[in-house]
Amino acid sequence: MWIGIDDTDSRDGGCTTYVANILIQQLIDQNIDVIGYPRLVRLNPNIPWKTRGNGAISFQIGKGIGTKITIGETNHRPLCGYTSAARDSFTDEEIRNVQHLLETIIEDQARMTDENTNPGFVMLSHQPSLTVYEHAVHEIMTVTDCTTVIDKGKGIYKGYKNGRGLIGATASIAWVANHDKTYELITYRQKAAWGTPRSIDEQSVQEMDAAFPLTFDNYDYENNHNRIMPNSPCPILYGIRGDSVTELQQTYQWVRSEPVSSWLLFETNQGTDDHLQRKPIKDIHPWQSVIVDGVISHNPDTIKGGHVVFRLQDTTGEIDCIAYEPTKQFRTRIRLLKKGDHVIVYGGVRKHPLTVNLEKIKITHLVSIDEKIENPVCPHCGKHMKSRGKNQGFKCIVCGTKSTTPVIQRKTREINMGWHEVPVCARRHLSKPLKRMKMKGDKQSSSDVKNRERSPNNTRSCS
Ligand code: ATP
Repeated sequence: MWIGIDDTDSRDGGCTTYVANILIQQLIDQNIDVIGYPRLVRLNPNIPWKTRGNGAISFQIGKGIGTKITIGETNHRPLCGYTSAARDSFTDEEIRNVQHLLETIIEDQARMTDENTNPGFVMLSHQPSLTVYEHAVHEIMTVTDCTTVIDKGKGIYKGYKNGRGLIGATASIAWVANHDKTYELITYRQKAAWGTPRSIDEQSVQEMDAAFPLTFDNYDYENNHNRIMPNSPCPILYGIRGDSVTELQQTYQWVRSEPVSSWLLFETNQGTDDHLQRKPIKDIHPWQSVIVDGVISHNPDTIKGGHVVFRLQDTTGEIDCIAYEPTKQFRTRIRLLKKGDHVIVYGGVRKHPLTVNLEKIKITHLVSIDEKIENPVCPHCGKHMKSRGKNQGFKCIVCGTKSTTPVIQRKTREINMGWHEVPVCARRHLSKPLKRMKMKGDKQSSSDVKNRERSPNNTRSCS
């Protein structure tokens, strides 16, 4: 049985991962097993009604068989899951009990009074088609799109208020990590600390970052920003992202902080670039996230607010691409681009005006730029000629020899070909960091990850 939940939080507090944490603890207490890791699935990052990162939760429950795995810890008590489930494991009464538990916890935890909080939960015996997830991570869906899918799968659902949370809940269940996935270890604060400033030692975060090479986006060294710590009043203390379960289960012991009341390890689509679609410019629509291959047709300009914009052209059209002020040093590199450079841009599409909000770029060709360094030298007198005025060439004042061409030098371009990405502090949840791209391209690193995941040590205290 699959469970999906979404849209329980608001900007003032709450967190859907925390709702899942409570639910999982209570299911385990009732001898219902969690199969695999719970999943934190990020959906379309550009939809206007998201609270923060458009994340939804899903997980599988059943009668566990196979290997036991540690999926979390509460008050130093391990939370265990199983690698697989026995078939047809629930009676109708058990299903009703699970549904009742879901309703009770969501109605207790969700920030119902916030007008933008529209919770939903879904129970399905099988995952819907992967296309449901693909649609939700790429485009805009309706609640009816999802209830049709749930009804077809003979599922159970409940949508509160406008029921929009059903979209994330269904799409999260539909996610299959076919080509890529990562993990996030999320720790939660003690209840008494909620809403107060978080206490996390930054030095220890940097030490943890250095010690665990398969983690990513922990600390922004360019901007002195501790990225693992959220800045909302939610129950999360910090979240550490990475490719290795083994590493992540060790990381939180390195971070010196206020007490952790519990932690949960999520399988996620974060850092995978799953949101991006390769598109010609004419097919780009608002709220999508795109990869566009083109040539710069207008030099970058810095506009009000410190944002930097250039125009990109392909054979089908033109579109503005923008590096916003929060992307900090990335803008300095964007300013170095010139008309004629070939680039592949990656980013989310804003509606008014239709613009690609840059997440990273790959420069595939830099144009040669020649600059005048001095007036021409007279071939007879050896003296520098004088300018005859704008666009009128040069003349030797000694012998009268004329020339139209000054001494030219090829300018050294101050930006390198290849990849450039926004700093860690401006990274979107779904964007694949260059650190991961390099690791995936490096056979040695990726086989190392696979070997670590297979290692019997990755099951810790539940084995
Ligand atoms: P989080 O804070 O957990 O990172 P979020 O709080 O930003 O995520 P929600 O509060 O869950 O996001 O709000 C997003 C809402 O948008 C949810 O109701 C979700 O079901 C809905 N949603 C998600 N993807 C789509 C989509 N592709 N089309 C339409 N609605 C969507």
